[in-house]
Amino acid sequence: MNAVPLFPRVALIGFGLIGGSIARGTRAQGLAGEIVATARSAATRARVKELGIVDRVVESNAEAVKDADLVILSIPVGACGPVAQEIAPYLKPGAIVSDVGSVKGAVVRDMAPHLPDNVHFIPAHPVAGTENSGPDSGFAELFTNRWCILTPPEGADPAAVERLGEFWSTLGANVEVMKPDHHDLVLAVTSHLPHLIAYTIVSTADELEDVTRSEVLKFSAGGFRDFTRIAASDPTMWRDVFLNNKDAVLEMLGEFQEDLSKLTRAIRRGDGDALFDHFTRTRAIRRGILDIGQDEAKADFGRTHAGLKKKQ
Ligand code: NAP
Repeated sequence: MNAVPLFPRVALIGFGLIGGSIARGTRAQGLAGEIVATARSAATRARVKELGIVDRVVESNAEAVKDADLVILSIPVGACGPVAQEIAPYLKPGAIVSDVGSVKGAVVRDMAPHLPDNVHFIPAHPVAGTENSGPDSGFAELFTNRWCILTPPEGADPAAVERLGEFWSTLGANVEVMKPDHHDLVLAVTSHLPHLIAYTIVSTADELEDVTRSEVLKFSAGGFRDFTRIAASDPTMWRDVFLNNKDAVLEMLGEFQEDLSKLTRAIRRGDGDALFDHFTRTRAIRRGILDIGQDEAKADFGRTHAGLKKKQ
């Protein structure tokens, strides 16, 4: 718990999984003297009030940013430009303005032109999430031991970058600084392509004619269900990710299609060595992820298994 809050007033625009997790973590760590929140719909604003985890819920974005020292947009990437335009006249001079969007190049392109020179614009992306959304889905520990990538524009004030980094590290994240385009390429491989593949596989399985839908669900533990978790992610968020990171995703999709062709050829030719070598390499990547603490080795991604029934 911070004795003196890092920011006297934090404004949160958008209160879903990410905004709600930031609010809970900020409160738990005493990072803000006051947390002011708003959301697009009256229903979400009413729910945030009921939850009682922020100091004030206000009706408009303009009202939220008034006198705020840190403003964070936790809304879909495609909405960041219009909201930046809306809040620009009301921002406090010297405020840090940030976001949490999963794409950075497009956010910089859409927000920067609207923001006044007397604020510090420092985009950010906490690489942490679940397939859930909405004001009830957040939790304070979401960012623990996850990365938060900051993409400050050239010439950004180093003290403001450091302050935002301290905010995220107090929420539990490891902080890294990158250029927006590089961020978008890295995330295209590690997040955007896997989501696209999950969305594809789940709909392919759903459209098969000779295998019934009930069979797909019944035998899903064979691997399918792990894709369904990813494919349950928010449609608005992911539509905006693909619309706004088009070039990097298309580049990675090209690489993926080449690799898929190689595996297809190996299967067609019965080339067991090629398949074995490939799967050995991928297994080592999984071990590497466990080694750096980005997942747990528990079987079935931590799912519990019922005990064996005793044979009568
Ligand atoms: P979420 O749970 O669906 O919440 C989205 C919030 O944005 C809601 O408060 C919603 O308001 C508001 N909103 C939606 N459309 C809007 C618009 N056009 N204008 C203004 N506000 C709008 O989403 P989330 O998962 O927190 O994602 C928010 C951002 O975090 C996205 O940019 C996403 O790329 C990024 N992100 C997500 C994850 C993840 O795994 N989910 C991880 C890292 C980063 P209402 O509730 O009133 O509709």
